[in-house]
This record gives sequence, C-alpha cells and structure tokens, in this order.
Amino acid sequence: MQIINRLTELRTATRKAKAGDKSLALVPTMGALHAGHLELVEEARRRADAVAVSIFVNPAQFGPNEDLDAYPRMLEEDAAKLRTAGVDILWAPPVSEVYPEGFATKIHVAGPSSGYCGGARPGHFDGVALVVTKLFNQVEPDIACFGEKDFQQLAVIRQFVRDLDINVEIVGVPIVRDADGLALSSRNAYLTPQERSAALALPKALQKAREAILSGGEIAVILADMQKAILAGGFSNVDYFALADAQTLAPVTQLTGRPLRLLAAAKIGKTRLIDNLAVE
Ligand code: AMP
Repeated sequence: MQIINRLTELRTATRKAKAGDKSLALVPTMGALHAGHLELVEEARRRADAVAVSIFVNPAQFGPNEDLDAYPRMLEEDAAKLRTAGVDILWAPPVSEVYPEGFATKIHVAGPSSGYCGGARPGHFDGVALVVTKLFNQVEPDIACFGEKDFQQLAVIRQFVRDLDINVEIVGVPIVRDADGLALSSRNAYLTPQERSAALALPKALQKAREAILSGGEIAVILADMQKAILAGGFSNVDYFALADAQTLAPVTQLTGRPLRLLAAAKIGKTRLIDNLAVE
C-alpha cells in the first residue's frame, strides 16, 4: 500500500492503478477506522481492481462549535488496518493540499440536504459536497463507496453527482453495528462506559418505531413516543426522529408504498449520535 500526501504523487499512483483499463474504487473517510469503514473497503475490493482510501478530517464540514480539533486522528493505526485489508493507495493529504491559500469555491446542494442533520448543522452538507467533489477530482475513481450510516449524506452525494454529471458510480453500503445493535461510529470513542450502554436507546427506538409503523400505528404518535423513550434512556436532546421517503428524504406521515427510512440524531453527554433504519 502506498501512503501518499501530495497531489502530484497521487496522480502518478492512480494513473498506474488504472492502466490497462483497470477500475479504481475510492472509499472516503475521516479516519479512526472501525469495522464499518473496513466493510466499505471490502465492498470496494469486490467491485474494482484497485482500491484507494482517503483519510481527511475535512474542516469545511465542521461548524464553529463542533469537534474538529477533538476529532480522533490515528493515521498509523489506520494505515496498518488498511494495509491488512488489501488497500492499494492511502490518500492522506494535509489541509493545505485540499484547501490551498486563496481557495474560494463553495458548493451548495439543496433538496435532500435540508432538514435533519442539514438543519441541525448549517453548512455541513455544503462542506461534504465540496470535499467529496475535490476527492473525486483528485483520485478520479470509477466507483465510490459510502455508508448508509450517514443516510442523508449518501442522498446528498447521489443528488450532486447526478446534477453535475460526475462520472463516478455511487455505492451505498449497509450499516455495520456492534453485537448489541449500536451503529459503529468513530464518535463512539467519546462515550463513557455508562453513555455507551445508554446509547442503545437510539437503535432500540428505531426498531420499535419500525415495528409499530408496520403494524399500522399512528406515525406522528409513534415518532413522539420514541423521542420520549430516547430521552428517558439517558440522551439529553433529540435533534430529530423522523420518517422520510428513502430517496427524496421528504418527511412522510403515512405509508406510501415507496421505501421509507427512519432517521434519528440525538445527543448523549457531549456526543451526537446518528442512526437510521429501513421501513419497507
Ligand atoms: P467517516 O469517517 O465517519 O466520515 O465515515 C466514512 C464513511 O464510512 C462514510 O461513508 C460513512 O457512512 C461510513 N461509515 C461510518 N460508520 C459506518 C458504519 N457503522 N457502517 C457502515 N458505514 C459506515
């Protein structure tokens, strides 16, 4: 595995990886890698001849009072995991290589970026769209794998890739969970042992809501009850607990015959967790 942090070097490596019409997949990450990220790598390996993983904690997607400085950084451990997983290229640029002095471009995606995390974290998805576009132009992959864990992010990425005719196939990968059901996240590392066990209230509420909705319960009542259950379970705040159309993310108040998704974000201690579940 080549570890690269200069764009000129990256271009040489990706050209080599794609020589002879070989396909290249990209897995964008912010590092602090866990089994969820490694599942994306596995999927990428199944679908392409060569795999590049990026590790870049993207300042453009963090708000002023968010955890940019505190976000876990552990490049050596991450590189060891990726080497074992059979990754060909690790792209780990410094901030100056992505946003050099004088950088002046912004991207705004409307539609699926409004509400939910887009409402709670203004500008977040603009920052995601910007960095993913940059990473696509830097790595020039044929395919890119993203987790359904960040369901709204995946919808936003599909939207701007379609809108801008970006020639990269977007692959969504199902959520990887711990044995007890908590979705794996780099931010789980912030949780105290008590918070870690209380955090289960979030996936449990999603499961309960799905069962109640599919048995014909009143959706607005179920969503309100589950918010209460999450707060009673030890969370301090529920940003949203909603049922949405799985493609447009428009809120839904009754079963529509189309795939739906329960979406949730809630804060426990200092940590904001997100999760989601298909209702089909
Ligand atoms: P992050 O490093 O948090 O930006 O995540 C990088 C990629 O890994 C994103 O596409 C996430 O959706 C994906 N990801 C994170 N956690 C999980 C998980 N538990 N299961 C599947 N994919 C995940």
